[in-house]
Amino acid sequence: MRYLGRFAPSPTGPLHAGSLVAALASWLDARAHNGQWLVRIEDTDTPRCVEGADQRILQQLAACGLVPDSEPTWQSQRSHLYAAALTHLIDKGWAYPCGCSRKEVEEAYTTQGQDLARHTAAVYPGTCRDGLNGKPARAWRLHVQAVIDALHLPQTLEWHDRRMGLQQQDVAKEVGDFVLKRADGLWAYQLAVVVDDAEQGVSHIVRGEDLHDNTARQMLLQKALGLPTPIYLHTPLVLGENGEKLSKQNGAQALDVRDPLAALNRAAQVLGLEACGGSVGEALQRWTQAWSSKKI
Ligand code: GLU
Repeated sequence: MRYLGRFAPSPTGPLHAGSLVAALASWLDARAHNGQWLVRIEDTDTPRCVEGADQRILQQLAACGLVPDSEPTWQSQRSHLYAAALTHLIDKGWAYPCGCSRKEVEEAYTTQGQDLARHTAAVYPGTCRDGLNGKPARAWRLHVQAVIDALHLPQTLEWHDRRMGLQQQDVAKEVGDFVLKRADGLWAYQLAVVVDDAEQGVSHIVRGEDLHDNTARQMLLQKALGLPTPIYLHTPLVLGENGEKLSKQNGAQALDVRDPLAALNRAAQVLGLEACGGSVGEALQRWTQAWSSKKI
């Protein structure tokens, strides 16, 4: 199989120690498979994007010797592809407009006696599935059960993660009809990532474990759009001093690349690789060899 891997940062700030782990792992996995490695800037969520963060990320990667094999791409230039995918889903009867506000979704959820505190987001109760009831359309959602039934998929999707082993999720029950196009007109991450991975020919996805619970939603969309499902590997997260995962949202520091080898060594340690001295190039070569023999 032709291996194509990618690193897909959102330009909501510069890389931090946690994002370098995902970048390094995806680069090493591509090299260990004699594959190609792409960088895709995921800038669909424009209100969260920070001006210049994309260039800064590319510079940080380059300082660490992680240079993509072809020109980087920006999701903001690929809206026509997401629009075509949504049209396809609408034509199939698998996507519907939704007029609910977030508050209405949460209220409907709690009225059903569900405990919202245990969920980060309410499972959409399907209010607009059979029509908008006079409300204006705000967002577009995937009719999850319609896809499962039409394609005769199991109610609980199962897949194998190369590090985490056998995984499963009942998307209809645990997530509900998720958003494809947001009320503010922006493309949802789930749709954009699935369309791009397939259009670019990505065969292997290596990314942080914080994205792991999106996998079943993405697999469902791949099936609905008739696209292949890549092979998944989710890498360990870097935890901050408070035990929470490092993220731009909780103020993780920008990665300092004045000493790229030190930054890479910290990322490599999270991946179970031994610290290396010498040059960045030598270290990357040693880790590629070690990665190849890991057999994951
Ligand atoms: N853009 C996403 C993020 O930075 C990652 C997407 C992915 O790797 O699937 O969190």
